[in-house]
Amino acid sequence: MPKIVILDETTANQIAAGEVVERPASVVKELVENSLDAGASTISVEIEQGGLTRIVVRDNGCGMDEEDAQLALLRHATSKIRGPADLSRITTLGFRGEALPSIAAVSKLTLKTRTATADRGTFLEVEGGKVINSGPAALAPGTIVTVENLFYNTPARKKYMKSPGTEGGVVGDYVFRLALARPEVAIRFTHNRRQVFASLGTGKLLDVIASFYGSELARQMLPVEDCSGDWLQIKGYAGRLTLHRSNRRQVTVLINGRYVYSSLVTMAVCEAYHTLLPAGRYPVAVISLSVAPELLDVNVHPAKLEVRLAREREVSEAVTRAVRKALMGNRLVIPGAVLREHEPDLREEPLPRVPRFFPPEAGRQQVLFPDHPPHSLPPTGSEGYVAEAAPVYDHAGPSFPAVEYLGQLMPTYLLATGPDGLYIIDQHAAHERVLYEKYLAALAGPGAASQMLVLPVNVFLTHREARLLEAHREFLASLGFVLDFFSQDTVVVRGLPPDFPPGEGESYLRDIIGYLDEPGRSPSREDLVHHLAAQAACRAAIKAGEGLSGAEARSLLEQLAAAGNPFTCPHGRPTIIHVSHHELAQRFKRS
Ligand code: ADP
Ligand code: MG
Repeated sequence: MPKIVILDETTANQIAAGEVVERPASVVKELVENSLDAGASTISVEIEQGGLTRIVVRDNGCGMDEEDAQLALLRHATSKIRGPADLSRITTLGFRGEALPSIAAVSKLTLKTRTATADRGTFLEVEGGKVINSGPAALAPGTIVTVENLFYNTPARKKYMKSPGTEGGVVGDYVFRLALARPEVAIRFTHNRRQVFASLGTGKLLDVIASFYGSELARQMLPVEDCSGDWLQIKGYAGRLTLHRSNRRQVTVLINGRYVYSSLVTMAVCEAYHTLLPAGRYPVAVISLSVAPELLDVNVHPAKLEVRLAREREVSEAVTRAVRKALMGNRLVIPGAVLREHEPDLREEPLPRVPRFFPPEAGRQQVLFPDHPPHSLPPTGSEGYVAEAAPVYDHAGPSFPAVEYLGQLMPTYLLATGPDGLYIIDQHAAHERVLYEKYLAALAGPGAASQMLVLPVNVFLTHREARLLEAHREFLASLGFVLDFFSQDTVVVRGLPPDFPPGEGESYLRDIIGYLDEPGRSPSREDLVHHLAAQAACRAAIKAGEGLSGAEARSLLEQLAAAGNPFTCPHGRPTIIHVSHHELAQRFKRS
């Protein structure tokens, strides 16, 4: 049996670092939280190369004297709690006394600090957890922590770091969230000497939102306010229904001034938008809860990102109610146009299955509706029309039946007669299929064909989103996107893949970001192209509830018949179903 030994301090700190210090963003989070706990009113965060080479956090907080500065680097050294009783009423962001020694164990860390009453400061230089230099330092009251060469002595961890652009983007997201949690503190973030954003410290949440997302987006945020219960207060901002994103990342949750991941609260926010946003789209929101400290357990996660909340159900219901109220209270936010965007509820649809019609005559080549003139559908453009005489049944698999249009059954069905009975076509699904194939062809086209926009579109992105797009700029160019990247995270769309509706440049970028930003996704060209074409088709397709003229309906049916796979929409739901004469006879009790 090997002998048991107690690990030395350095090893123990490296192990703790494994939990607390996952990437540059976690270092920044811990350091900024320390600055906030120190009562700072201004904090500056500067990073280089995504924080991998250098991170500097400066504050004008209370600082430390020489003795405390040395203690601060020891494990479980904290000024914030004294014993177990304090754990149940934590009001500071930190309390574990682990951050500084953990960071120092995996980097070269320099701490410079001075209290307001001292006439000079102290500095300590630590490498791999060992103090290598110390002495007096000249600085204004406050603290400056510099972290260099993160993970230089833990190559296994270093290997997992993403590109500096990606890491820097994650840092920016964190700093923004911390700034949201403390609107009264001015926080500035600089990456490679370029200022990414700066909150002003006005105390107004909306000002922080504007400093990050831009004032354009901030104008579309509706205030959420609810203090009905004495134990729970809800405040924040929820985006108008027109402001949706393809993942939940832009729902930020703050609890007692702490930025946390709370799927409970995030889901409750999304629930308020349920049926108001198109399927698969998520809101932008910042929700800040205040609860009595006894109701919140923050000691469940080493980086304190996850928390446990008592009275979960009540909290969740109150959040949904408060956000709903904000959305509904403002009549302007639910115009018909938005409601029409709402897709049919997936859960009510039957599972995708093989269409159950194989009409006997369908194998023959037929010209559909030869006596009707070509007619274009609103978003399709006349080029979407399929030449009527072309033999369209040359694809493998069952052929599309020759049908004759009868009329529209609101909200979304087209009725037609055809071989052996009645055919019912879902107009949205059918048009989605047609557009999807058209967009797919445009994206797969030779070289980088583009349609240049008469009016280039400015898209305001977060730092992280812009870096994400920039990292894939060549790939996007190969699809036909002509993009200019500017500082300040504005991307200008100058050109789009051919055939894509030109008015939707921003939506395409957001779709791509949403796709690239899914955690754990390794993007493949085929996958992204499918996603992009499907999203664009869904958006441009005629919606349920739209009236179609006879000519429009016929044109749609023709285009569907000419599609490579006319039987399902890009999400796999059927576009057409068949009710046979036999089935009708049975239902009328004729057989
Ligand atoms: P914790 O925040 O959990 O107490 P840390 O390792 O992050 O543990 O910090 C240890 C201690 O160092 C803190 O409790 C605080 O007293 C002191 N400290 C750290 N950063 C600062 C700062 N920026 N200003 C003043 N004091 C600080
Ligand atoms: Mg701390």
